[in-house]
Amino acid sequence: METSIKKTLSSAKRLGIMGGTFDPIHYGHLVAAETARVELGLDYVLFIPAGEPPHKKKLKITDAELRFKMVEISIKNNEYFKASRIEINRKGPSYTIDTLRELHRFFPKQDLFFITGTDAMMDILAWRQPEEIFKLAKVISASRPGYESQKHLAEIYSKFPISKNRLYQLEIPALAISSSYIRSRIGNNKSVRYLLPDEVIKLIEDNKLYVNV
Ligand code: ATP
Ligand code: MG
Repeated sequence: METSIKKTLSSAKRLGIMGGTFDPIHYGHLVAAETARVELGLDYVLFIPAGEPPHKKKLKITDAELRFKMVEISIKNNEYFKASRIEINRKGPSYTIDTLRELHRFFPKQDLFFITGTDAMMDILAWRQPEEIFKLAKVISASRPGYESQKHLAEIYSKFPISKNRLYQLEIPALAISSSYIRSRIGNNKSVRYLLPDEVIKLIEDNKLYVNV
């Protein structure tokens, strides 16, 4: 973990964690993180781009450093948002449980809140060691257009009773934006303005990302 982040976050009590591939980051991610921060009274939200997303092995993923850079420039004006390389620096697939264990080691006194979109929450039963995830962090499932959480929440609650007090649905302003949608628009030479920060669009253009998808 970066020393500067350890220092800043050590005084925090409630720490949000926003994981994702961020290929590229967009306003859906940012509004989910900001709404969770405000609604749950989080001191900070830590953005953690996945090194190797275990569920996206077959897809071609943009270089981790570029994804990290896109995250960094998107969050630089929010003093409560930080970005960490812990998953990028770890070898092998990025499992949430490993990340939470590492964070818990660095921040043993903090309450950890893992923020996901409803689509990601619906997959949680397929993640590595879901029960351990619930022990280490509360999981916040941010609403996402097109995904209904009720049935999945009920299934997770019944399979892992510990999750009853540790998994919440959070209503956020609905943005039907996804990284795949952005990549496909760029591939089709269509505008992506107002779906993600201008500076990220500039970085995408300068590096000719997503042109051939
Ligand atoms: P892709 O289309 O490549 O899967 P994505 O837009 O889903 O990209 P990810 O990096 O996969 O972005 O998502 C990281 C996290 O952000 C996940 O928990 C996902 O559910 C959440 N998320 C992404 N977009 C939104 C959105 N528009 N509203 C709410 N949550 C979102
Ligand atoms: Mg996704």
